[in-house]
Amino acid sequence: MAKDFYTILGVGKNASEEEIKKAYRKLAHQHHPDKAGGSDAKFKEVNEAYQTLSDAKKRRHYDAFGSAPQGGQSSGGGAGFGGFQWDFQGGDFSDIFSDFFGGGGQGRGQPHRQEKGEDIRVALHSTLEDSAFGAEKELSIKRDVECSRCKGSQAEPKSEIVSCAHCGGTGRVSRQYRTMFGTIAQQSACSACQGRGKVPKHKCTQCHGAGVRKETDTFKIKIPAGIDSEQMFKVQGKGNAAPLGAQSGDLYVAVTVAKHPIFSRKGSDLYLDLPVRFSQAAFGDKIDIKTLYDTVSLKVPAGIQSESVIKLGGKGMPRVSGFGKGDLLVKVRVQTPAKLSRRQKELLEELKKENL
Ligand SMILES: [Zn+2]
Ligand SMILES: [Zn+2]
Repeated sequence: MAKDFYTILGVGKNASEEEIKKAYRKLAHQHHPDKAGGSDAKFKEVNEAYQTLSDAKKRRHYDAFGSAPQGGQSSGGGAGFGGFQWDFQGGDFSDIFSDFFGGGGQGRGQPHRQEKGEDIRVALHSTLEDSAFGAEKELSIKRDVECSRCKGSQAEPKSEIVSCAHCGGTGRVSRQYRTMFGTIAQQSACSACQGRGKVPKHKCTQCHGAGVRKETDTFKIKIPAGIDSEQMFKVQGKGNAAPLGAQSGDLYVAVTVAKHPIFSRKGSDLYLDLPVRFSQAAFGDKIDIKTLYDTVSLKVPAGIQSESVIKLGGKGMPRVSGFGKGDLLVKVRVQTPAKLSRRQKELLEELKKENL
């Protein structure tokens, strides 16, 4: 455990709670594995650091011993204390998660917060043209959708609503953990009633009380113009639906753009190899170039050298930010004649005499 949690979060040893929280938010956004350039390992590391430094007790322990408090080697399984764990019930974390990607914010100030539906991630293969023009695609995915019979209420229509027997109608259950600091009681939402304290007397017969059903959902999505491989875009509300009026999760579409037979791509710029005959290079010429968008008459200047690049401004990929397009860079490749006719040979012999 030689990890320095302060360095990981980029804060000083005397950082305030607020500074730590701020640093964590920034880094968690940056490294979130669902984001372009995100990193699972980094994200976990940042979370681990935050879990310790955001908790006054754990932080004191860390400052004193240089490691996070361990839950007394709780072998034998079960939910241990300490170490890395997701705790979506603990208010502090869900608060941070709800503003990921700008979504969320549901249920604030309500007596019992409903969990948002899960996000779904799918892979999508696209052509360069589809990416350039932002094509519309039909997508079929299996996801939880709201049950049509109970409309997500989990109750059989007209069923009586009764107090939850599991939690005695309080909506909360208490669990106790033994830790090196003594026994800690943790309150969490009752799983039987999802914290509502009330349950339907008769569960919906179609979804068996889940409020949602797994179905194949087919819908149209628009590929964001200019998207590149290893980038991801979000389709709001097309993740799993959640029961009891909670917000649906989101769909994250991870894109792979297929290699193009003619253009290669670097960011928003496209590259094209243009074979040019020796005489065209020497005298100059006008050559028709098919770009992604149109046909351009490219002026090849006299005396151009092989490997020279001619830029066609704005004929590259749209920038995914929405501002303008990249360029098309045409790389001239002067072809050396390999198979010569008798006449060509004679002429080249003449050129040779002229030191060409
Ligand atoms: Zn139902
Ligand atoms: Zn309950």
